Formats: sequence, C-alpha cells, structure tokens
Amino acid sequence: MDSGEYNQCTYCGRTIFPGVAACPYCHQYTDGKGPLGLGAEDTPRKFSRTYVIAGWLVLVCTLLPLLYALYVWLTR
Ligand SMILES: [Zn+2]
Repeated sequence: MDSGEYNQCTYCGRTIFPGVAACPYCHQYTDGKGPLGLGAEDTPRKFSRTYVIAGWLVLVCTLLPLLYALYVWLTR
C-alpha cells in the first residue's frame, strides 16, 4: 500500500528511500539503469541487448575459423 513512497534499487532489488543518490546496500547509483530497471522507458533496453547478442554472434563467427585452424594445427 505504501510502496509508492519507496523506490526499488534497480541493481539489487532492495527497497530504498526515494531521492537518494546511491543505493546504501550495493552502492550503485540510483539512475534506473540497473538490470532490474523495469520502469525505465527512456532507455531502449531490448535494443541494447539485441546489439550485445549480435556483437557476440559476430565475435563467435570471427573466432570460429581461428579456433578451427588452431585445432587443425594442434592435431596434425
Ligand atoms: Zn542496490
């Protein structure tokens, strides 16, 4: 009922007082950019996650030929 009077830390999920600059539990800044920041509408979180996954895919596709070449070189 009184949940509106408190904020939730977007990093550790604990209840913190609104208006504080940093979480007293995990010492992260209360900027709403944590992994639990569900109410952050101004940050396109799904797009950034997609970019991270795409980046990993590109990295894997780049490293796979190198790993295969290393495997061939080690097992010959
Ligand atoms: Zn916290």
